[in-house]
Amino acid sequence: MNNFTFYNPVKILFGKGQISNITKEIPAGARVMVTYGGGSIKKNGVYDQVMAALQGFEVSEFGGIEPNPHYETLMKAVELAKEKQVSFFLAVGGGSVIDGTKFIVAAMEYEGEDPWNILAKREPVTRATPFGTVLTLPATGSEMNSGAVVTRVSTREKFSFGSPFTFPKFSVLDPETTFTLPARQISNGVVDAFSHVLEQYLTYPVNAPLQDRMAEAILLTLKEEGPKAVQNPQDYDTMANFMWAATMALNGVIRVGVPTDWATHYISHELTALHGIDHARTLAIVFPALLRYKSETKKEKLLQYGERVWGVASGSENERLEATIQATVDFFESLGIKTRLSDYEVGRDTIDTIIRRFEERGVKDLGERADIQIQDVKEILTLSL
Ligand code: NAP
Ligand code: FE
Repeated sequence: MNNFTFYNPVKILFGKGQISNITKEIPAGARVMVTYGGGSIKKNGVYDQVMAALQGFEVSEFGGIEPNPHYETLMKAVELAKEKQVSFFLAVGGGSVIDGTKFIVAAMEYEGEDPWNILAKREPVTRATPFGTVLTLPATGSEMNSGAVVTRVSTREKFSFGSPFTFPKFSVLDPETTFTLPARQISNGVVDAFSHVLEQYLTYPVNAPLQDRMAEAILLTLKEEGPKAVQNPQDYDTMANFMWAATMALNGVIRVGVPTDWATHYISHELTALHGIDHARTLAIVFPALLRYKSETKKEKLLQYGERVWGVASGSENERLEATIQATVDFFESLGIKTRLSDYEVGRDTIDTIIRRFEERGVKDLGERADIQIQDVKEILTLSL
């Protein structure tokens, strides 16, 4: 096992009715800004529950944060929040609203030249306004981690950042808030969470059986609960188990002491930036191709994953590797998520564009062995055509 430092200060309020308890978590006298997306929370009653809970606080709001939150929009929120001297943010929504709010709270306290540099140059965040979240879409794990991904529409760039200052102070996970999710978002959530585990698990063994089994437990839970959630999004226990699995997939617990990959996420962000394809769908395109391309260096963990998660136990090594990757593809497809670039009408010209951008940006050394170079990215994307 590798050395590690583990720190996660996020307080979780899990279960039905927990929204009413946020009052106890927000400092008395705080000037609160509620941030949200395109309006789903107004249709399903979550907005009303939040506003009822916030009685007694001075409250303002900023809605309209898009999926794959736009830098341009978030800067408008910063402007408004500064005007209103907001001292605490409450993000109510999915990963996009939470990620967007992480950027807002960092930009609120930013004193450098250009807040875009937090993303483009990974300028370290040294302070941030405190915030909490009410999660309505299990998927990203953003509710219990400190990372965020933001898109600049004008340049079609999608970049991430993270800092110890952008952990939420608390997150409410009430499965009932997810009952109105459309099937497409549930499938996306399952695949995103599943991919988060694969990024931290399908690397190379470092003799960390507990981390392996925790990762496998999350994968098996998503495998079992995911299809049920798509079928029956109003089943409380199904959504509760899905919700907690998605949080556990990216709250840092399974990452400790093991190598992590993240090349799939890095490459996939380009597909969303260029074509607006849902985040999870871009992962479903890139991951199988990356696993096929790297099956030799990931062999041991791939075989273990195949056996323990998909019951792949017979055949030659190569047959088992392929059966394992195919089982992953079949799982994604069974959730209604297509796994090839051509399914999204994306062709070789986009691969060329991505390669050019990576060259301009000097991107290299991706993956757990830092052995994925620009030429490899081209091969991986070509395999995903
Ligand atoms: P999302 O973009 O936050 O939301 C997708 C859609 O679902 C929105 O249209 C939203 O509508 C709707 N929605 C949310 N909750 C709903 C509910 N309860 N009922 C009905 N509709 C609902 O999706 P996401 O997958 O959670 O987030 C994706 C973003 O997170 C991407 O930018 C991705 O790159 C990023 N990400 C972040 C991390 C991280 O660790 N921080 C990890 C992976 C991915 P409204 O807008 O109307 O609310
Ligand atoms: Fe993700």
